Amino acid sequence: MLAYTYVSPGKFELCEKPLPSILSPSDAVVRVTLGSICTSDLHIKHGSIPRAVPGITVGHEMVGVVESVGSEVEHVRPGDRVTVNVETFCGHCFFCEHGFVNNCTDPNGGWTLGCRIDGGQAEYVRVPYADQGLNCIPDNVSDEQALFVGDILATGYWAARIAEIQRGDTVLVIGAGPTGICATLCARLKQPKHIIVCEQTEERRQFVRKHWPEVQVVSPEHCRALVCETSSHGGADAVIEAGGTAESFRMAWQCARPNAIVAVVALYNEAQVLPLPEMYGKNLTFKTGGVDGCDCSEILQLISDGKIDTTPLITHRIPLNRIADAYALFESRQDGVMKVALTEKEGTSY
Ligand SMILES: [Zn+2]
Ligand SMILES: [Zn+2]
Repeated sequence: MLAYTYVSPGKFELCEKPLPSILSPSDAVVRVTLGSICTSDLHIKHGSIPRAVPGITVGHEMVGVVESVGSEVEHVRPGDRVTVNVETFCGHCFFCEHGFVNNCTDPNGGWTLGCRIDGGQAEYVRVPYADQGLNCIPDNVSDEQALFVGDILATGYWAARIAEIQRGDTVLVIGAGPTGICATLCARLKQPKHIIVCEQTEERRQFVRKHWPEVQVVSPEHCRALVCETSSHGGADAVIEAGGTAESFRMAWQCARPNAIVAVVALYNEAQVLPLPEMYGKNLTFKTGGVDGCDCSEILQLISDGKIDTTPLITHRIPLNRIADAYALFESRQDGVMKVALTEKEGTSY
C-alpha cells in the first residue's frame, strides 16, 4: 500500500509498504477513506519533534472504515465508519480515568500515531486501543464532516471546555488557523454574548467573516481596544490562545479581564515570558497544553445534530498518490488553503 513516510529530517516520501496487521488483541486496522495534513506533520518534517521515529508513516487526522479487529475489541466491528483519535490511550490508567487521556501512561500513550508508530497518510492504518481510539460516525455525518473530529476539532472542543465559557461571556480567540476556527465554533455552543477572533492575515480574517458572519474579527493592532470596548469588565472573560507566537501569547493575558481564564492551546517554538509583576493583581488562571481528546463521541453527536460544521475548512481535495502536492500547497499557504482533504488514491473503488 502507499504510505507517506518520514525518511529523515526534511524528507517525507511516498513509499510502498506492507498492509498493517493486528499486533495486539486491542488493535483495529482501518482503511483510510479521508485524511488530512496538520501543522504537527510539518513540525516532524522539519525535525522539530525529536521523538518522531524515522521510517514511520505520518498522518494523525483521518477517518475510515474498520477492516479488522483484535479479539478484545468490543466497540467497533469490521465495516463500521469511524473517526480515529490523534491520541492513543489505554482507558484505565490514572490519567485516562480522570479524562486526561493526553497523559496516558501506556508506553504508546498520547500522540503516537503518525509520530512514533505508523499513522494514517496511507491506505490503511493500525490503531492501538481501538475501543478508545475509534468512534463510530453517525449515518447522517459524511467523512468530510467527521474528518477533524479526532484532532483539531477535539482540540477546539477541549479548548472551549477548559476555558470555562459561560453564557453571556465575551470570548477572545487568538489565531484563525484551523484550530482557532474549531475553537471558535465550539466556543459558540456555550452561548457567549460576543466572540472576537483576532487574526493577523487579511485573507483569514475574510475567511472567517465569509463563513461565520456572527463572529467579530479583528487584527492584532486593534484587538485590545475592541475587546475592552466590547466587554463591560475591562477584558475578555475567557481567552483561547491558538496563535503560537510571542505576540499572541502576550495579547492573550493582556486582553483578559481580571480573574479570567486563559486557555493556551498553541504550540510554541520557544519559551514564553510571564511578566508576573505586570500581571500582579490580575489574578488570571492559565491552562496550558495539548488536547485531551476524550469528547469525540459527543462532538460527533453535535455534528449529527447540525450544531458544528467544519467542512468550510476543507478548501482543497487531493488524492493520496499526489500527497506531495498537498504538502507543498499546505506548507506554502497559497491559494487560500486552510485544510487539504486527502482522498483515496486515484483508481480506488470499493
Ligand atoms: Zn494534528
Ligand atoms: Zn491510560
